[in-house]
Amino acid sequence: MDAESRFRGVDPRLVTKIIASYVAHHEVAPEQIPGLISSVHQTFGRLNQPPEPHGALTPAVPVRRSVQRDHVVCLDCGWKGKMLRRHLTTRHGLRAEEYLRRWGLASDHLLTAPTYSKQRSTLAKELGLGRGGRPSENAPAPNQAPTALAAGRRRRPRAPAPAAMAQGDSPE
Ligand SMILES: [Zn+2]
Repeated sequence: MDAESRFRGVDPRLVTKIIASYVAHHEVAPEQIPGLISSVHQTFGRLNQPPEPHGALTPAVPVRRSVQRDHVVCLDCGWKGKMLRRHLTTRHGLRAEEYLRRWGLASDHLLTAPTYSKQRSTLAKELGLGRGGRPSENAPAPNQAPTALAAGRRRRPRAPAPAAMAQGDSPE
């Protein structure tokens, strides 16, 4: 009765085959054979059992709730924050790719809160870190600068000292 339940799920023919193969290639004393059979049975029995806990991962929150507008949640421990990458390396020693694989996530699964990445890119543009450099240098808003420059250019070649004095002498 006990033996039956213990060997449940194990194909005796497979066990016999393995034992036969083993005995053919090794010197086995007859009294060792029962132990051998038992050992093979136990091994098969373990294989039939559900995987150990490390294979059956339970996320801290459902995957679809792990990405919110202003934060992301670590599926391993439930940590909440704007950026998961740093947390994964410091807390779990995982690279982002390893984390994604571990949870069977798509490679474009967000690890940074959407609003946070938006803020960052906006900030980058404001600081002139985006492409195109600083637009203010190319298109100066005030009118004085070009006018003054043009005036200066116009005056200088045409204004030798005597002419300037003559102009200055006859204002009327
Ligand atoms: Zn975590």
